[in-house]
Order: sequence, then structure tokens, then C-alpha cells
Amino acid sequence: MSLSFDLLVIGGGSGGLAAAQRAAEYGASVAVFEPNPLGGTCVNVGCVPKKVMWSTAALAHSLSAAADYGFNLDYRSHDWGAIKVRRDAYVASLNLNYAKSIEAKGVNHILENAIFIGSHTISAGGKTYQGRHIIIASGGQPERPAIPGAEHGITSDGFFELEKRPDKVAIVGSGYVAVELAGMFRGLGSEVCIFVRYDGVLRKFDDMLREELGNALAKDGISVVTEAILSKAGTDHGGLFLETSDGRVFNNFDCLLWAVGRSPNTRHLGLDKAGVDLDPRGFVLVDDFQNTGAEHIYAIGDVTGRANLTPVAIAAGRRLADRLFNNQPDRHLDYNNIATVVFSHPPIGTVGLTEAQARAEYGDIVKIYRSEFVPMYYAVMESKGRAAMKLVTAGEHEKVVGVHVIGDGADEMMQGFSVAISMGATKEDFDNTVAIHPTSAEELVTMR
Ligand SMILES: Cc1cc2nc3c(=O)[nH]c(=O)nc-3n(C[C@H](O)[C@H](O)[C@H](O)COP(=O)(O)OP(=O)(O)OC[C@H]3O[C@@H](n4cnc5c(N)ncnc54)[C@H](O)[C@@H]3O)c2cc1C
Repeated sequence: MSLSFDLLVIGGGSGGLAAAQRAAEYGASVAVFEPNPLGGTCVNVGCVPKKVMWSTAALAHSLSAAADYGFNLDYRSHDWGAIKVRRDAYVASLNLNYAKSIEAKGVNHILENAIFIGSHTISAGGKTYQGRHIIIASGGQPERPAIPGAEHGITSDGFFELEKRPDKVAIVGSGYVAVELAGMFRGLGSEVCIFVRYDGVLRKFDDMLREELGNALAKDGISVVTEAILSKAGTDHGGLFLETSDGRVFNNFDCLLWAVGRSPNTRHLGLDKAGVDLDPRGFVLVDDFQNTGAEHIYAIGDVTGRANLTPVAIAAGRRLADRLFNNQPDRHLDYNNIATVVFSHPPIGTVGLTEAQARAEYGDIVKIYRSEFVPMYYAVMESKGRAAMKLVTAGEHEKVVGVHVIGDGADEMMQGFSVAISMGATKEDFDNTVAIHPTSAEELVTMR
């Protein structure tokens, strides 16, 4: 006998839980399949534990600034194991909060892997479940390169299992995970080398951010090896080594971390039984309304490969539940102007088009405003940090189509500016806004 629900959700991560809870609030009968701790990547091996480690490294930066501010601190070492215990406890408390929250809303949690056995039918733990609607929210997982010796490296998941800080770390990858983890290791005292395939880190970001971050990494003592196509990894007497296809060898590492991308969890879902189409990389193909090619089956979050961010998965999930269970037929997520932060040191905040994207889209009517400066925080310090900001505008009325910031506080600055951008603010609107002084953010409304 099979159990029937209005909604079945595969995956209890950011997107799946958001959709399930919203649907249950509308009175739908809902079951979520999730064999792992609730909360998915973000809570267990992503945003949450990462932010704890970023804050730890940020504190280390502040401690090294303290002497210039007149403090006499005897700071000698950091206990990685101690913060891991606290971090794990925090994550466990979030797992529990999720369990309580879905229980309170009447969502059934099935602690099993789900697999399609028909377009409306799922098998899990030896039982079958019928769903009037089914949402695929199975997320993704970190990849390893297909080279000999790749098994010697860990991924971002392994980063969160480390019990102590390694001394010399090789990080392979150029995306935000690579630079974030590099900054955390370095801030807490590791020697760090990043290996990138092309000419630098964060290839999809605005050139100003890439250049400034490159300088900040160098200033912090993080080396970046460019044009590094890796051919082999392994161990020798000096620890872990990496070889590039042009014959360069780098060794003596005690930690190798792959940050080379993520692949979708679609391989073991039986999607062929459900008639769901995938793109060549295995991501679920969806339209603007999260519909897959199969009727009554939807996909949200990382499994769709569109803007892999927690709030995106949540927003897509909630809007989908609004559409399916609250009679809001046009409700869907607009994927434009999604703000994002890279938790590097200093952090990056960005929203909208890069300068290059804007020039490709709008041509000659693009006008750029830029500012680079030493934030006041560093005025009394020997070692000076920097901030850089860019406004990308387009058209006669100079609509602001991109805001890019690197510098202390950029992470907290960007949310408000993203509201202005989604409302269609112009440069004149920015200029007419009275500045908050003395802050770094005021530069964004005083650029000429
Ligand atoms: C290191 C790192 C740092 C990150 N930092 C940030 C950040 O700062 N800000 C941000 O916004 N985003 C960040 N992200 C991205 C963010 O974590 C993801 O975008 C988000 O978790 C996606 O949510 P999701 O619901 O699509 O998938 P997930 O959260 O991955 O959830 C998918 C769930 O599906 C389950 N599942 C898989 N297959 C099955 C099956 N067959 N049956 C049942 N369950 C299944 C999995 O166990 C998992 O729990 C980070 C990611 C990483 C890796």
C-alpha cells in the first residue's frame, strides 16, 4: 500500500525545507525525504560553519590590529579544535531547530533516500509514496578532478571535519569556495597556495574585484599559481605534492583541498522513470516557474545549477509553494539582480552586472564610477588595508545596473543596495541620498 501526499519533497536542505514548510502552512499534506541531518549543505557543510570560520579568521585579523590601537595583548595561538566543538554544537542545534519547526508545521520527515519509480511515485526505505506534486531539491556535492591521486585531497566537506589546522595547504580552484577557505586557513596561520587553471581567482566577477582581491591575497601571503592544469597528486617523503601538465611540481603540503566545483545529486534519483530532463552536466532543466519537463514535478536550488545560493533555493521553494498551494499562478523567482557576498578577507559584495557584462549588453551607454581608498579603520595602523567600489550605470538616466565592493564591511553593505538596484535606482538617486559618515559605504553615494 502506498502513502499519499499533496506534496513530496526530495531533500531537506535550504530549498526543500522552505517549500515543504510553506506548503504545509497552506494546509497541504507534505512529506520530506532526507536521510542526512536536516538543513542540507548550507547548515551542515556550507554557509553556516563557513561563516563561523570566517568570523574566527576575521577575529585573528582584528587581534593583529589591536596593538596599533593601543592594546597590549598576549595572543600566541589559536585552538582550531576548540572552535570546531562550538561550531559543531551550533550546527547540531540548527538541525534540531529544523526538526522541531517542520514537526510543528505537520511536515512528515522520512529519513530515507528517495528514488522515483514512476512520475507520481517514490520509493524510500521499502515503502512507496504517491505525490500529487513532487519537488526535487536534492542539491549537489563537491567534485574531485579526474586525475591520479585525487583521493589524497579533501573537499569543502572535509574542511569541516578537520580537527586541527594544517600547516601548509594547497587549494585547487578559483571560485568563491577556494578563496574563502584560503583566507580562513591563512588568517589562522597556515601557509596557503591556491592553484588556478587560468589567470587568477573569481573569473566570473568584475575585473576590479578580481584585481583587488588578487592584491589582498598577495599582501596576506597567499600565493596564487596561475595556468596550473593539474596532472597528478600524491604523497612523497615531504608530504603531499601536486604536478601540473607543464611539468611543475609543488610539494611539502600537509593538506590538499579540491574546490573545483559541484555536481548535482541527480544520478541516483531514478529520473528516467519520471521523465525529467537533465542538461549535459546532470542539472535538472527547469523553466522560469521551476517546472521540469514532467508534469507535476518541479526542481529548485542547486540541483538546477542556477545561482547556487541558499536564499535563492529558499526563495524559489517558497514561491513555488505559493503558486501550487495558494492560488498565485504567476508567482516565481526573478533570478536577476541577486546580491552575493564572497567571504574573503576583506569580503566582497556584489549585485547586478559586471562592467564587462554591462558593456556587452548596453554598449557605449555604460558609464562607470570607481573609488579606491584606505578605510579610516587603517588610519592609525601601520599595515593599510584597502577598499574599492564600482558603480556600473547604463543609459541616459544612468540606471545603476551593477554595484561591486571589496573592503571591510562589504558583506553587510550589499543587502540594502540590492533593494535599490531591484527598484531601478539611478545614479541621481544615489547622489540624492545623504551619506552616513564616517563609513566606507558613504563612498557609494558620493562618487563623481
Ligand atoms: C563551502 C560552501 C559554502 C557556501 N557558502 C554559502 C554562503 O555563504 N551563502 C549562500 O547563500 N550559499 C552558500 N553556499 C551554497 C549553499 O549551501 C547552497 O546553495 C544551498 O545549500 C542549496 O540548497 P538546496 O536546498 O538546493 O540543496 P542542499 O542544501 O544541498 O540540500 C539537498 C539535500 O538533499 C538531500 N538528498 C540528496 N539526494 C537525496 C535523495 N535521493 N533522497 C533524499 N534526500 C536527498 C541531501 O542529503 C541534502 O541534504 C555554500 C556552499 C558550500 C559548499
